[in-house]
Amino acid sequence: MKVTVLGSGTSQGVPAIGCDCAVCRSTDPRDRRTRPSILIETANNGSEGSYTRDVRSILVDTSTDLREQALTRDIRRVDAILFTHTHADHVFGLDDVRRFNQMQKSPIPCYADRATAATLRQIFSYIFQPPEQRGGGLPQISLFHIGGPFTLGSVDIVPVRVWHGRMPVLGFRIGSFAYLTDCNRIPDESWPLLDGVRTIVLDALRHRPHVTHFSVSEALDVVARLGATRAYFTHICHDLPHAETCAQLPAGVELAYDGLVLEIE
Ligand SMILES: [Zn+2]
Ligand SMILES: [Zn+2]
Ligand SMILES: [Zn+2]
Repeated sequence: MKVTVLGSGTSQGVPAIGCDCAVCRSTDPRDRRTRPSILIETANNGSEGSYTRDVRSILVDTSTDLREQALTRDIRRVDAILFTHTHADHVFGLDDVRRFNQMQKSPIPCYADRATAATLRQIFSYIFQPPEQRGGGLPQISLFHIGGPFTLGSVDIVPVRVWHGRMPVLGFRIGSFAYLTDCNRIPDESWPLLDGVRTIVLDALRHRPHVTHFSVSEALDVVARLGATRAYFTHICHDLPHAETCAQLPAGVELAYDGLVLEIE
């Protein structure tokens, strides 16, 4: 399984509009952070002859920058989309899945918890209650509720409840990998679901504390408790220069960056 970090930035992206700070003006490409998303790709296509749909490419969230991310990484296929929550930076690229609909000639199944699905229907009412005049076309998506662990093709997905301030958000665990973005607390009941995770991509906004995101030191505590061998921090704001911050982090912990590819057993 291969995981690509498509976007590692906080909601405003880095550089921030009109900001002259050292990170926003950095020439290191790893300091250019688009809005948060990952792509999970698997070579294993599910058991042959079964009715299981062939799922090779799973997108987590449709970030504001989805179009740029898809062009930059040459993404040609999205078989399913998992949603963590409905903040704008995670969903506003949904309209761009039209291109995948065209190429794949099919709707794209999307998976979200009940509250996220309801808000998606509200935000994107033009998709779910289509207007009479179709114009440039509408994204074709089938929205399914996540009630617990589920399987897409040959990929077993465990949703993991985490807290983003007072908002419940879903993280996802697949085998020894977990993606927990937009969170500042992992409730007691979710820790057992993360048992055995070796590689994690985890929210760490900045050094200073924040009411809805882990800080770097809080994220380091999570990594230590989890016993993960590789951790990559994401949803990073312009407070953290890539190279300098990585040099200060303990072994096995790095900042993620756009285009980072992780091979997962
Ligand atoms: Zn976010
Ligand atoms: Zn800046
Ligand atoms: Zn959020």
